[in-house]
Amino acid sequence: LVRCEAVTHVYRDDTGAEVTALDGVDLTVHAGEAVALVGPSGAGKSTLLTLLAGLVRPTSGHVVVAGHDLGTLSERALLRVRATSLGVVLQSPGRNLLPYASARRNVAFAQRPARGSASGGTDEVDELLDAVGLLPRAGTAARHLSGGQQQRLALAVALAGNPPLLLADEPTSQLDRTTGETVLALMLQVRERRGTALVVVTHDAEVSRRLDVEHTILDGRLTTSARAGSGGAA
Ligand code: ADP
Ligand code: ADP
Repeated sequence: LVRCEAVTHVYRDDTGAEVTALDGVDLTVHAGEAVALVGPSGAGKSTLLTLLAGLVRPTSGHVVVAGHDLGTLSERALLRVRATSLGVVLQSPGRNLLPYASARRNVAFAQRPARGSASGGTDEVDELLDAVGLLPRAGTAARHLSGGQQQRLALAVALAGNPPLLLADEPTSQLDRTTGETVLALMLQVRERRGTALVVVTHDAEVSRRLDVEHTILDGRLTTSARAGSGGAA
């Protein structure tokens, strides 16, 4: 489902200085696989996630998602891959939400491009809101939700299109233990039921432990430690 080959990403800051955020990263994610990306702050985790999300193109190397080399696609084709193949929860969840629309409308809107006018739409919207604990806030505008609530809404929105791949950057960082557990349980359930692959950047050892494979990024380089009992890690 995902193949990164020799992916390097260099940022140039305002002074013209170059920062190599990723340095020759190879990564494979199979359909239905749950992958944790861990490592210290500044190691390149978010950069890798934004490359997988097609938000940034690699400086060199290939990022192939669902058979498409994201670095070489036209903007239009890239948008189509993002709409059909990817659910994304970024660190600032508000960025993916319509601020003036209700929580329910945010989820319903996200459902549309992937599904057309498929049946059961409204039920599924409320199921998703319920799964992230936001059904009581369904009518609240996204901008009036707390940070943690926006994070959970962003997850519901990301899952609404039923993507084969969910990318999540610290999806539990703003949540207390109990709510974080709810969110993790939802992601694992979606993986179980729909075969959705998960790529999750996390500082939370408990989150990582519950996924199949842990990849550590250090200074832009990736090392893999498949876990005992994970079954089927690449
Ligand atoms: P992590 O997610 O592991 O904390 P990041 O991918 O955010 O790491 O950052 C990797 C490196 O790239 C860091 O040195 C960071 O300062 C740098 N970096 C990230 N984003 C930018 C940017 N937009 N411009 C310049 N440098 C950046
Ligand atoms: P959290 O502890 O999850 O960060 P907050 O203290 O931010 O929660 O918010 C507490 C409650 O107040 C939440 O139900 C949230 O939806 C609501 N709330 C927060 N900010 C606003 C706002 N600007 N307008 C309306 N309701 C808000």
